[in-house]
Amino acid sequence: MDNNLFIYNTLSRKKEIFTPLLENRVGMYVCGPTVYGDPHLGHARPAITFDVLFRYLTHRGYKVRYVRNITDVGHLVNDADAGEDKIAKKAKLENLEPMEVVQYYLNRYHKAMEALNVLPPSIEPHASGHIIEQIQLVKDILDKGFAYESAGSVYFDVPKYNKQHNYGVLSGRNIEDMLNTTRELEGQDEKHNPVDFALWKKASPEHIMRWSSPWSDGFPGWHLECTAMSKKYLGAEFDIHGGGMDLIFPHHECEIAQSVASTGHEGVRYWMHNNMITVNGQKMGKSLGNFINLAQFFDGKHELLTQSYTPMTIRFFILQAHYRSTVDFSNEALQAAEKGLSRLLEAYNRIDSLPPTGVAGTDPQSPADIQSLFAKSEEAMNDDLNTPIVISYLFEAARIINSAAAGQMPLTAGDIQKLKDLFNLYLFDILGIKNEQKAENASYEAFEKAIDLLLNLRMQAKQNKDWATSDKIRNELTALGFEIKDTKDGFEWKMA
Ligand code: ZN
Repeated sequence: MDNNLFIYNTLSRKKEIFTPLLENRVGMYVCGPTVYGDPHLGHARPAITFDVLFRYLTHRGYKVRYVRNITDVGHLVNDADAGEDKIAKKAKLENLEPMEVVQYYLNRYHKAMEALNVLPPSIEPHASGHIIEQIQLVKDILDKGFAYESAGSVYFDVPKYNKQHNYGVLSGRNIEDMLNTTRELEGQDEKHNPVDFALWKKASPEHIMRWSSPWSDGFPGWHLECTAMSKKYLGAEFDIHGGGMDLIFPHHECEIAQSVASTGHEGVRYWMHNNMITVNGQKMGKSLGNFINLAQFFDGKHELLTQSYTPMTIRFFILQAHYRSTVDFSNEALQAAEKGLSRLLEAYNRIDSLPPTGVAGTDPQSPADIQSLFAKSEEAMNDDLNTPIVISYLFEAARIINSAAAGQMPLTAGDIQKLKDLFNLYLFDILGIKNEQKAENASYEAFEKAIDLLLNLRMQAKQNKDWATSDKIRNELTALGFEIKDTKDGFEWKMA
């Protein structure tokens, strides 16, 4: 396999040649959803970004073990070490079992991911199913002297760790900055230092989700699960760890600290982060009213949306930006993406009806162009997954197809096949776009044939003077909203 894939490593802050630990296998861990709410755009972007990476690595011949976790122990948001256990809170409000809430939102997440054509990961471990591993990790960090127990909770000793290692190696922050920005919050009296973070929290009496441990009945700190589960499924050292940029600090910084503190070395070779999504130029936030769930995009039912958008429009729109750039959602931008995608699909769906008019070798320009689109698309993918550039080459291919259809560019049968292969590989297999247009057309065609079949049976019934059957077919189709007209050649029908 050619070693020419470059990816940007957040840790080294530069593009590096991707060389996996083992020759043909890749271990990849991506922080998955926290399942206490409906999946939204913030879930879609990392899922799609790392789905494309997963697909591309697989295409390059690697056997990829892709682990994406489910955070279901109700982690403490923005590392406040305070706040409420969101899952437990919701469970009480709705009088449901916590795991019922988890399952409800997880099902909705899976449904949305399937609609977005995001492939399922190889392993999808739940934090709640790995409490034993997390407790062991806390013990290891305590044994190495980088954590302390305080009132039944266990905290990571950041200043002590920072004396020997670099806390801030990923985010570029330093302890002084963190001390200045850390707010005084509940639990601070238990900590030796405000920058310390919880590895284990003692549960308050009303806390539903709790597990017994050597320190208290409680629950693990949020950062713990990813360190414990990545190690369990990928080993103490593995290739790629991904997630959204918002996770760099504190989540991933804390993961590195936990890893180094427990094993003596950093386990991740390439840290990859996708940039964030804004809506009409603003950060998404529940209080800003611009928090649009994926289901609302798909059915258009949100006051900021002027129409619904198909999952493929959302996917295509996200991939039209490089994953390290921001993406701003607006109706205008989504409509442009919708048009662009249908232009590509229309061109693709025309390929089969193109007449091979050219003779191989007689047109020196077109075959070379098509071949170079393959090479250039691969080059773009190898340049840190530059999907917008790949898409620009697909538009170039669409222009060739349209010129050929208009009789302005002779193509050989071989050229036509190459164009088809280019779309199949890059648009469908690697970018993961589904040809919805074709699927819609195909199902409509089948539907038309089924109605024709019924009306032919009705004609036969009439010829056999089986009026009961003939009337039944007519009446029931009319009741379903069909307009049926008998003509001298047979029949015509349309939907009313
Ligand atoms: Zn994580």
